[in-house]
Amino acid sequence: PNTLLKVRNLSTRFFTDEGQVNAVESLDFEVKEGEVFGIVGESGSGKSVTGLSILDLIESPGRITDGEIWFRNRSLADEFNEQQSQAVRDEFVNLLELPESVHRSLRGNSFSMIFQDPMSSFDPTSTVGEQIAEAVEVQQRTSSNPRSARSRTQGYGFKSMVLGSILPSKSFVTEPSMERAIELLELVGIPDPKKRAQEYPHQFSGGMLQRAMIAQALAGEPDLLIADEPTTALDVTIQAQILSLLSDIQEERGMSVILITHNLGVVARVADRLGVMYAGEIAERGTLKEIFENHTHPYTAGLLGSIPEIDEAERLRPIPGNVPSLLDHEMGDRCYFADRCPKAMEECMEKPPEYEINDDHRVRCYLANREFDEDRSIRDHFDGEGG
Ligand code: SF4
Ligand code: MG
Repeated sequence: PNTLLKVRNLSTRFFTDEGQVNAVESLDFEVKEGEVFGIVGESGSGKSVTGLSILDLIESPGRITDGEIWFRNRSLADEFNEQQSQAVRDEFVNLLELPESVHRSLRGNSFSMIFQDPMSSFDPTSTVGEQIAEAVEVQQRTSSNPRSARSRTQGYGFKSMVLGSILPSKSFVTEPSMERAIELLELVGIPDPKKRAQEYPHQFSGGMLQRAMIAQALAGEPDLLIADEPTTALDVTIQAQILSLLSDIQEERGMSVILITHNLGVVARVADRLGVMYAGEIAERGTLKEIFENHTHPYTAGLLGSIPEIDEAERLRPIPGNVPSLLDHEMGDRCYFADRCPKAMEECMEKPPEYEINDDHRVRCYLANREFDEDRSIRDHFDGEGG
């Protein structure tokens, strides 16, 4: 399959009173068309910041300070090619080089995001049906007349941020849009969608609202859906239902999904490939099979130490120690995992590069260094530990 998204050397920093926080550091990964790419890591590892960076939703004091985010979009590429813009390469546009209004207009349309807390995506004062219908209308307006939709700048709350601040505060919703909204509610498995469309967000249970948020995110028929901990707030049975819903829709539409989670059990169920994030970097990445059967990074091993079953209480065996400070002046030059790594060695006082194990698998750890392997048996090194 074609590549849909290429993230290159992405760095996102926050400039706080305590100093510069390197939330995401020189990140590289790609997402193919029609695949689920999982991003896994503990909280504070930079997963959410990665998702928000792609959508250009990083707010002050944060900023994307470096990198490129290439997104395949033939029509935009043509448009910017005519202008001989730096922002285009083949069929890809670099989101970070696009005018902000254009980047924004892609939100909800070419890509959208769902969050852990669905309440943040809905306005409590209008019905769920109206809000999904509005999202449908935004999509239609943007595709029929991109320029006019891009130039509108009203909106409210978080939803308007996600949908690109192009919603009027109370819009007139047409009947076909409402019908489409009801279809979408039905698609995400909400019973009696016609009636539920007329209800307000607070009348929905957590699981139902999560479904409604997915419906809203699908209104623009996005090529890429970013799902940030979409099941964490839900009880385990509902979690499993939401995950299989997401995976059904993803397969049916051939949509790409970035699934952000701290739970390896969750990605194991639906991801094709995954990246394990630690301290703002991808420590290990590869196909699901490579990561589960052939992982090399001690952090991945730690996460895999206990994959909670989806129907068990969701709990990772804690890896001893804490996520390191991401403050620039405290990070130092050693491997960021060194303080917690049971296999740390002298070399690790210098930051490891990324090693390619095979086409499907890369690791940022000296244990993956083949030359090192030949030089000095890794096994000996560990067997020697403690006697
Ligand atoms: Fe552990 Fe060293 Fe690998 Fe870092 S580079 S994960 S400290 S073995
Ligand atoms: Mg998060």
